[in-house]
Amino acid sequence: MAGNLNELSKYSMEDTEKSKLIKEALNESIKASFIQCSKADLSLEMKKIAERSYDYDEDVCNEVEQDSLPGDLREEPRILRSVSLMGMITKYCPKCGRKYPRRENVCMDCLVHLKNISDRIDVSEIQSNPQFICNGQNDYKSFGEILDKENLLKITDFDFTIDDYSAVLHDIKAQAFMNFDNLVKENEIDFDELDILEKIILFTKSFVKVDYKSYGGQLGYFESDVILIDDRQTKSLQITTLIHELSHFLIQEILIHILCRLWDCSRNSIVQTLAAFILSYDDFTLLIDEYSAHNVEGRFTLFGFQDYSSFTLIEQRMKGERTVDDIEITKMIGNTFALSIKEILESLIDKQLREDIKEQFLKDVLDRPNYRALEMENCQILNDGGFIKAIWLILNEGLEVASSSIDELMAIQKK
Ligand SMILES: [Zn+2]
Ligand SMILES: [Zn+2]
Repeated sequence: MAGNLNELSKYSMEDTEKSKLIKEALNESIKASFIQCSKADLSLEMKKIAERSYDYDEDVCNEVEQDSLPGDLREEPRILRSVSLMGMITKYCPKCGRKYPRRENVCMDCLVHLKNISDRIDVSEIQSNPQFICNGQNDYKSFGEILDKENLLKITDFDFTIDDYSAVLHDIKAQAFMNFDNLVKENEIDFDELDILEKIILFTKSFVKVDYKSYGGQLGYFESDVILIDDRQTKSLQITTLIHELSHFLIQEILIHILCRLWDCSRNSIVQTLAAFILSYDDFTLLIDEYSAHNVEGRFTLFGFQDYSSFTLIEQRMKGERTVDDIEITKMIGNTFALSIKEILESLIDKQLREDIKEQFLKDVLDRPNYRALEMENCQILNDGGFIKAIWLILNEGLEVASSSIDELMAIQKK
């Protein structure tokens, strides 16, 4: 593969948005060192913020359970107190979201019973089972059947254009929106009332199942069809982790959709296993997957605060087998996938929400950003032609190895 990989450098161009973001982050670091804002200053600042919010909490909690009040009132302790003294707003309409005083029972506009605000559903407890459907003429039941000569030839020939790729992204987006809409309706959620972490949890659950873990050092991981996340972390770290793991899910989903199109087959656990195998059998694809997730994370949070450990580990392992140029091309492919994933996620996580994430980050974060690592980021992406070639390389090489690793595929499928 190395020879073909090198050829891809012909198709590279700069990702101006990413380099701009990194330049901005680096400029911030220079400014910060001028002001000599030491960690102590920062902690002091954080402490002040914490104290402020503590005062406010104590003020209002004496009167009314803070969470039981509508969000627009939560911001303003004084209004809150007068409302709570009147003991009025305790209900909401599950359909239109309007708030009602305790004495009301129905929303006459929507003709539904009102619910108690305090009974509002906890987003982290919702069990979702989001569906991404691809329907095709073929429904393969075994790895032997799907990896037959004819199908492998279809991969080698690769009749797949950038327009087909756009259609894949569109499909994924449309299904995610449908899943999201169902989740909100089924659980009678008032989206605007949610905080930023709850919103991100809900979006994530529109793509993939989310479960919680409270063991081990990992912040979270994605495995086959579920994201596991440690909810002992700060809100901003949970947001970062969800977006990172969601990127892993999406790169796998993109490959599944491409395979289903090429083979005109339905999506099932056989295709899903193949995509998972392709992304994990070799450091080459592991790095693409990891660099892409890492990059998406940076776009939605703040560059300089990402955890670089997962891909530096792979990078170190790769140095023996691959040249530095090869590794840079691998990152370039990861960057290009990251753009697609960003496009999918941005349709849900709009500009305001991205600002809310950054705000949450500045509230939680106590570590200084890692600017040294930032200087080493790769800001190159592939043009359309190069990207199609890269996808072809990944699938062609991956499926060739897969066809002689049936036992391994079966082990992955069982998980
Ligand atoms: Zn209503
Ligand atoms: Zn990762």
